[in-house]
Amino acid sequence: MFPMNVVVCVKQIPDPAAPQSLEPGTHTLARSGKLIMDDSDAYGVEMALQLADAAGGGEVTLVSMAPGGETSGLRTALAMGAAKAILISDDALKGSDALGTAKVLAAAIKRAEPDLIIAATESSDGYTGTTPVQVAELLGLPSVTFAKSVTVDGQTVKVERQTESGFDEVTSPLPALVTVTAGVVEPRYPSFKGIMAAKSKPVDTLTVADLGLDASTVGAAGAGQEITDVAEAESRSSGEIVVDEGDGAARIVAFLETLKVI
Ligand SMILES: Cc1cc2nc3c(=O)[nH]c(=O)nc-3n(C[C@H](O)[C@H](O)[C@H](O)COP(=O)(O)OP(=O)(O)OC[C@H]3O[C@@H](n4cnc5c(N)ncnc54)[C@H](O)[C@@H]3O)c2cc1C
Repeated sequence: MFPMNVVVCVKQIPDPAAPQSLEPGTHTLARSGKLIMDDSDAYGVEMALQLADAAGGGEVTLVSMAPGGETSGLRTALAMGAAKAILISDDALKGSDALGTAKVLAAAIKRAEPDLIIAATESSDGYTGTTPVQVAELLGLPSVTFAKSVTVDGQTVKVERQTESGFDEVTSPLPALVTVTAGVVEPRYPSFKGIMAAKSKPVDTLTVADLGLDASTVGAAGAGQEITDVAEAESRSSGEIVVDEGDGAARIVAFLETLKVI
């Protein structure tokens, strides 16, 4: 048995159930209020806890980049059982694009010296799905994406990687980065004891300078992406109701043929 240290990337996002607004000028999501743990990351946290348990030792460290020193979402993941967290929060990070975010996360993750890094396949708000593989590239580590099952055997991680028609079995030496899909495991609900314990778990808050990063390569200054416009999503038109007068099946088949799905 090898004790295993797992880092989980946890994105803290505005509550998707609450009304959202955009920052004037930049078209980015306003993130000034309370943030919560992205639901997508609950799967990674659970997976990491189960892998550390199965390894018979080690611990789970959370890494998050978020504005305003926000820790609410991290406390939820700490209440699930993670040991500690690293938060990177700095006004200089405002306007960071996906690569800028990856640079910051990679620099913080390096400090934790993990055996395994877990992230979600994509976040619920930005959902570019590009950040984790950029983190792996910056750290010079292999990455395996879209995991529907993850097991560790000694110094190797085995992943069932979801594909359109089923799954591939992929193995990689550790350390490595794995992105997990919803459904990889069922996240636990934090217990009352876990919620109380989370209040006193360590959260190390760092700035860009603490990470030794050049401020001109992150934040708005280093961003290669720009959101040029935001448009209202088209409202859905109501569907056509087919009343079955004996020809219902044939009419549905004809409709599906016009969509070229059959
Ligand atoms: C031009 C531009 C400007 C932006 N300006 C701001 C801004 O001012 N303030 C701001 O807060 N955001 C800003 N963002 C969004 C922010 O930079 C995103 O977090 C980043 O682009 C990651 O992209 P994503 O959400 O598509 O992540 P994805 O690649 O879809 O994320 C996949 C997974 O990576 C991990 N991950 C991603 N982001 C983080 C994170 N921040 N912390 C920990 N884990 C993470 C999570 O596990 C996540 O599920 C901006 C984005 C762009 C393109």
